[in-house]
Amino acid sequence: MSCFSGKVLSEGVAIGKVHIINQSAIHQINPQPKKEKEKLKKAIEDSIKELESLKTESKENEEYISMQILLLNDPMLLSKSNQEIDNGLSAAQSVSNVLHEIMNSLLDATSSYLKERVLDLSDIKERILRNLLGKKSLEIQYDFILVAEELYPSFLIQNKNKLLGIITHKGGYSSHSAILCRQFNIPYMVSNIDVKENEIIIIDTRKQQILTSPEENEIKHYQEVLHKLSKENFEAIEHAPYQFLANVSDNSELERVNQYGFDGIGLYRTEMIFMNSDRPYTLEEQYEIYSEAVEAMQSKSICFRTFDIGDDKQLPYIEASKKGVDNYIHNPIVFKTQIEAIIQANHYNTVKIMFPMIYSSSEFDFLKKWVLQIQKEMKDTSYIQFGIMLETEEALNSIETFYDVDFISIGTNDLVYSIYHIHRDAQTNDLENYLNDLILKLKRVVDFVKEHKITLSVCGELAAIEPALKEFMKLGIENYSVATPAIKILNHVYKEFF
Ligand code: PEP
Ligand code: MG
Repeated sequence: MSCFSGKVLSEGVAIGKVHIINQSAIHQINPQPKKEKEKLKKAIEDSIKELESLKTESKENEEYISMQILLLNDPMLLSKSNQEIDNGLSAAQSVSNVLHEIMNSLLDATSSYLKERVLDLSDIKERILRNLLGKKSLEIQYDFILVAEELYPSFLIQNKNKLLGIITHKGGYSSHSAILCRQFNIPYMVSNIDVKENEIIIIDTRKQQILTSPEENEIKHYQEVLHKLSKENFEAIEHAPYQFLANVSDNSELERVNQYGFDGIGLYRTEMIFMNSDRPYTLEEQYEIYSEAVEAMQSKSICFRTFDIGDDKQLPYIEASKKGVDNYIHNPIVFKTQIEAIIQANHYNTVKIMFPMIYSSSEFDFLKKWVLQIQKEMKDTSYIQFGIMLETEEALNSIETFYDVDFISIGTNDLVYSIYHIHRDAQTNDLENYLNDLILKLKRVVDFVKEHKITLSVCGELAAIEPALKEFMKLGIENYSVATPAIKILNHVYKEFF
């Protein structure tokens, strides 16, 4: 038996067989040009077939569909995409790039007719990608402890039910993979361990250690520990008028949100749902997911953050140069479908819509207007609150212009990077370098929301880091949104504070 130490990113105990995965398997498999070209050709052919049959079913849209077929039949689409494949890209990336290039040139056009063609192209892109990509979760049949160089959220989401624990060589506390592990209760450590495929190991984050090839008695002991931990339950203490809210990424977490006594969901990271799929979800599929969440919460509020793609969260069918409004302008159909599904699921007027990575109040106004237009087209009259994540220095510096928002949630993970250029992986180690200054800057936000009766919360990882949470409470912030296991920290700091 050997013992290795490491840094804890998500607490817990795990016993299991090691499965080692090299980086390319987790992130991107090197595409083989010939196969990629064949796949793309078939996906375009399948898309044309789909549209042909749609045309016969839907006479009123015949003209629109015929035009899409024409665009798909254009030989330039295939030849340009094939050139990109020859440059080393996958079929999905290639066809996305080519269509994006055309979309960007149309967006620059002065004619509104041409501008509207962007929607057609976006639609075509999604259809091709849907036909191109299949699910790619691991084939492995048993539960395992993953050992890898680095971990990406999409891999984690697709394999979460098989993951007993995770060890990577690189990673930080506020990375999205670490955030997800805490939400899903998967123990996660960063360590340079030396293990073999199929070796049995034990992760014990309470001792910050990993045991490799443990003795029989150690295994027995840890099996008992695991049994005890599975019975552990937490409950929010009395905390009115504060709001203890949950950050979730998946409906499997909803039961715990209610069990632990959270007041609602302060951040539903909807893009994490998308990570389960290599094609955009349909309106019906998304409606089912959002509706299930709304039903589980009943009268409690639920804040859906519109999909937030970028950094370590990437999707093959979403193209955006930066997070925020770009995500939606460049993928208008995906945005519209998501909004329609969220609005349809607003059964009890409890839904809030939150836009991430906002830089200016004009971006907020533009997105709110867009959503209201979609709602009007749906003839829906439900009540929705609109808000922003405060996670850019630009928005912080112009906070007084955001008087039209219903709520603001401080996303410290991106905000700290935006102001101090401290990467999310290092933020919890470097607290003393920026916390005091951040609190000074946030005072301006607290004063502003008081004056305009805007609800303010913190939903970044700092809301569950004790010294930071204490400072937020002293500043007068009353609402916190955290991963469900962090209810322990909210309870503890709240008790100390009052
Ligand atoms: C944040 O930036 O603080 C946040 C909550 O959003 P995410 O971590 O998903 O970027
Ligand atoms: Mg963020």
